[in-house]
Amino acid sequence: MSDPKKVFRTDDLSRRVFLGAGGAALATSVWAGLSAQAQERVSSHDASNPGQENKALFEQNPNSNLPPETDNGAIGPIWYSFDLAHKRIQKGGWTHEVTQRELPPSTDLAGVNMRLTAGSFRELHWHTADEWAYMLYGSARVTVLNPDGTVFIDDVGKGDLWYFPAGLPHSIQGLGPDGCEFLLVFDEGHFSEDNTFLLSEWVAHTPPEVLEKNFGLSAEEIAKLPKDELYIFPADLPKSLAEDRAAVGGKAVQAQQQYTFKMAAMAPTQKTAGGEVRVVDSKNFPASRNIAAGLVTVKPGGMRELHWHPNASEWQFYLTGKGRMTVFMPTGRARTMDFNANDVGFVPAVAGHYVENTGDTDLIFLEMFKTHEFQDISLNNWIRRLPPQMITSHLNLNEATIRKIPSEKQEILIR
Ligand code: MN
Ligand code: MN
Repeated sequence: MSDPKKVFRTDDLSRRVFLGAGGAALATSVWAGLSAQAQERVSSHDASNPGQENKALFEQNPNSNLPPETDNGAIGPIWYSFDLAHKRIQKGGWTHEVTQRELPPSTDLAGVNMRLTAGSFRELHWHTADEWAYMLYGSARVTVLNPDGTVFIDDVGKGDLWYFPAGLPHSIQGLGPDGCEFLLVFDEGHFSEDNTFLLSEWVAHTPPEVLEKNFGLSAEEIAKLPKDELYIFPADLPKSLAEDRAAVGGKAVQAQQQYTFKMAAMAPTQKTAGGEVRVVDSKNFPASRNIAAGLVTVKPGGMRELHWHPNASEWQFYLTGKGRMTVFMPTGRARTMDFNANDVGFVPAVAGHYVENTGDTDLIFLEMFKTHEFQDISLNNWIRRLPPQMITSHLNLNEATIRKIPSEKQEILIR
């Protein structure tokens, strides 16, 4: 077995693999990357790769191209990147999405990454899925209307969340000085941001005489309504938050439910020498009734420990740094991939996994679940909650050795 902590660094790999341009050099370098045990099983000729290579992808995914020996079998895709997704660019901003179409095993959650310039709107709309959001950059004003006629209006900045339940109409507007960028996560794998109920489209597809009756407006006034979807479009910056709240009726119509939450600014749920985890679910953010999230920071050399989630699959979004993850599935299958900023990771329900920081800077990612409550099971914690003799029988470790294993769930480990 190779050292499980061994990490192929991109620069080492480049040196090994791209030392020479010829096929012989390539074969030699790939061969050199294999462990002694692997070299006993296969020859240098078996490891040769004389044909084409997508060098950029190869260098980003050293653990996919030279998998650890412990990898085995096929478990389906666990990686995609927003940088591969079609970007819909309009006056006022852009959007792109990673859904079940791009990552077929992700049936529970889909993600959208969107940019709005200062003043620009994501048009008034609603949809079938619950919407969870994390602000990546800048600031925005959001509104959402409750069925009882109360309205929620708030401003959000980097590191803040919002949560809009399915069916409730809402808006997002970029604020100064440079608008915003955010991640949206929906609790339907096939959710598409291009398939939402738009105000503009409803009025464009309703007979004008019906609109006159509904709004109590004249034919001339109804004729001014948009004939096509707006979706993302530029507009003037809004007035202050206090002025906007007052303009709709103030306290009398103000929603009691809080639909925004300061995630990055909250105290860590768990903090160790290796990093921090911030958990937000319906316990501390009651509006978030069907999506739970962890914001994970892993320091260089640290690792999100071996664990699994008993109640959901996991959809990940990588914000900064470099990491690698191995997903373990029955029977004896394992797949390792590398993850960079703007990548999406996926872990099937209850599948074992870890996430290791393989870079020189903090690795920060979001782990998302379609559930009201964040739950995970630590392998270390499980082992230490059982009689040592039981573990000795399974793992051939004596009691003194077993007691070296951390007994409590730490989330982030470092040695
Ligand atoms: Mn929405
Ligand atoms: Mn996890």
